[in-house]
Amino acid sequence: MRLIILGPPGSGKGTQAAKLASQINIPHISTGELLRIAVSQGTPLGKQAQTFMESGDLVPDALVIALMRERLGQRDAQRGWILDGFPCNLMQAHALDSLLQIMGQPYGTVIYLDVNIAPLTLRMLQRGRQDDQADIIQQRLAVYQQQTAPLVEFYQRRRCLIHIDGSPAVEVVNGAVQAALKLPVAA
Ligand code: AMP
Repeated sequence: MRLIILGPPGSGKGTQAAKLASQINIPHISTGELLRIAVSQGTPLGKQAQTFMESGDLVPDALVIALMRERLGQRDAQRGWILDGFPCNLMQAHALDSLLQIMGQPYGTVIYLDVNIAPLTLRMLQRGRQDDQADIIQQRLAVYQQQTAPLVEFYQRRRCLIHIDGSPAVEVVNGAVQAALKLPVAA
């Protein structure tokens, strides 16, 4: 199964992707997480990515696409994956298409976690990650509206988008995602 989880920062993408990944037993691939690891290890990628992340901007496409090309080529990714945070603009969506075409792996479904943007700032401030400060959050939300939100229409046109209300409690959203994917209900 190949899934993409789409939604604004703070919508619970990471939480839902992680839950689903353990339920279906496929890797959860989060570009944000991979980038944070690169930054903490001080790798060349991490050094290049750091300033963009600290200001709430997107890391340049070329870096992120190269990172994903490598990650999707790894062995555990051959049986499927859940992408969280990628693609996050049209350029990356097209790059993913080409990558999957070359690999002979069509993607399946895009889950869109729809939430009201207004309460997200509070949710993120409570999370307390390093880039979860009010001004950086505002910038990330603005970047989302401008660059990532158009992907909803992009995938809707391809008829592979599943629209889920992301505002209820974690377990409720997880149940809705499972039902939409027609997964057997977890014990
Ligand atoms: P996230 O963990 O998804 O909230 O991402 C945290 C930060 O990592 C973002 O604010 C961006 O700076 C960077 N980032 C994550 N995914 C991408 C991506 N697909 N393209 C560019 N930058 C990204």
